[in-house]
Amino acid sequence: MSIGVETQTRRVTLEDITNLCLRRGFFFPSGRIYGGLGGFFDYGPLGAEMRRDILNDWWTYFVERREDIVGIYGTIITHPRTWEASGHVESFIDYIVRCSRCNFEYRADHLLEDHGVKVIEPTRENIARLIREHNIRCPKCGGILSEPEAFNLMFTTYVGPKKTRANLAYLRPETAQLIFTNFKNIVFTMRVTLPFGIAQVGKAFRNEISPRNFLFRMREFEQMEIEYFINPKKMNYCPFFEEVKDTEIYILTAEMQEEGIEDARRITAKEALETGIIENEWHTYWIVESLKWLWSIGLKPEHLRAREHVKTELAHYAIQTFDIEYYFPFMGWKEIEGISNRGDFDLRRHQEFSKEELHIVDDGEKIIPYVIEPSFGLERIILALLTESYHKVQNRLILSLHPKVAPYKIGIYPLVTKEPFKGKAREVYRMLGTKYRVFYDEKGSIGRRYARADEIGVPLGITIDGQTLEDNTVTIRFRDTKEQIRVPIERLIEEIDKILNNWL
Ligand code: AMP
Repeated sequence: MSIGVETQTRRVTLEDITNLCLRRGFFFPSGRIYGGLGGFFDYGPLGAEMRRDILNDWWTYFVERREDIVGIYGTIITHPRTWEASGHVESFIDYIVRCSRCNFEYRADHLLEDHGVKVIEPTRENIARLIREHNIRCPKCGGILSEPEAFNLMFTTYVGPKKTRANLAYLRPETAQLIFTNFKNIVFTMRVTLPFGIAQVGKAFRNEISPRNFLFRMREFEQMEIEYFINPKKMNYCPFFEEVKDTEIYILTAEMQEEGIEDARRITAKEALETGIIENEWHTYWIVESLKWLWSIGLKPEHLRAREHVKTELAHYAIQTFDIEYYFPFMGWKEIEGISNRGDFDLRRHQEFSKEELHIVDDGEKIIPYVIEPSFGLERIILALLTESYHKVQNRLILSLHPKVAPYKIGIYPLVTKEPFKGKAREVYRMLGTKYRVFYDEKGSIGRRYARADEIGVPLGITIDGQTLEDNTVTIRFRDTKEQIRVPIERLIEEIDKILNNWL
């Protein structure tokens, strides 16, 4: 089933999305009755269903259906040495500038960007120089700004009753490190051999200086991460490369960015590898595999690109990094996933800090493997999906979500809200409810009921009408085309399965 909506997606604003989320129960500002808390959002009933579907689909795609990846579920607070070894205590910082008059604090690189100044290398010296050179003042009161101060983004807490330095702990700023600290446990318990991956989904916390753009920059969010371990000598021996080599992707290299080129190139995975754009087979494979999953849940290939980090933005642990960016019409290309080649940085650091050997034997040799890390942000993916599917057609809103991620898959409507229509509709509701997430709606005209369902992205509607009572058939209405087909109730599940499984 293809989507026949006349697309006006690209006109959507962040306000449109925020309003829809609040009005229909996808997300609410956390603690809203007390005025909300910046950077924290609660999932409402529809958001919670979307979240479940995305996480499940991700887990099926990247863990369940693969022989080479196992999952873990680590703690949010872990041994604080973890974050010393990973470099977060020392380097997970942004710079703040404070207004000398009104005391308001700004994230310095964002403030510069708001003034059209791109910060290529966000060091303290560079930021201070750019603020001086561009004569940037406090946007609120025009006051003079302080020198940039480093601010660590990790939330801290204390473990146990004593509030001393020795009891200080951190809420994890990423899920990845729990995978590294469990590496040895997995190697010993799961009999894994290289290459293999460990996956994890769960909360991450970052005390962002200026959370903004709704779900885009939050202080509490969810990550879906894989650390894929490979013998460093075998970075070009990916047994799955054949499957992806001809897949075309949009790519923007560091070199292109240095030359001022803004439009990504469309090339095959094989070309990206052979021209040296992506350094090795495994990294190429994981970029394509990630994109394939993002396409499968409804993001259009032309709205996604892999952008290479330029040298100055490369993290301390990374050999090469690509961000998968989505084109948000209201903020441009933005990262929704990062895919780094982290080399052996993390395992070596944890080995050094813990004094535990963190190797695995491969080809008879003790190896500290290299790691490719696909790291997805759940809420950014949801924001991208809502943006992608938001269509206004003659002033009516249709959210053309892929059925895989739609909060409800089917709405069930008696055309007339009296017996025997209601009873029959309830019967259909009970039958379908065992298999799909469905809802029953009898309130208001049928047109209004369809419109309410279209707004929250319900792909199919089943209507029980006069003819149902005569021949036991119902209509299936398609959200995107408004087309209707008639199907006998005894064949309804079979027909719906066919439609949902073949959805493009
Ligand atoms: P990073 O470790 O910064 O590369 O983050 C990995 C992924 O987590 C990103 O691609 C985002 O999708 C997500 N992410 C990072 N920071 C935030 C944030 N403040 N709010 C929401 N998602 C985030």
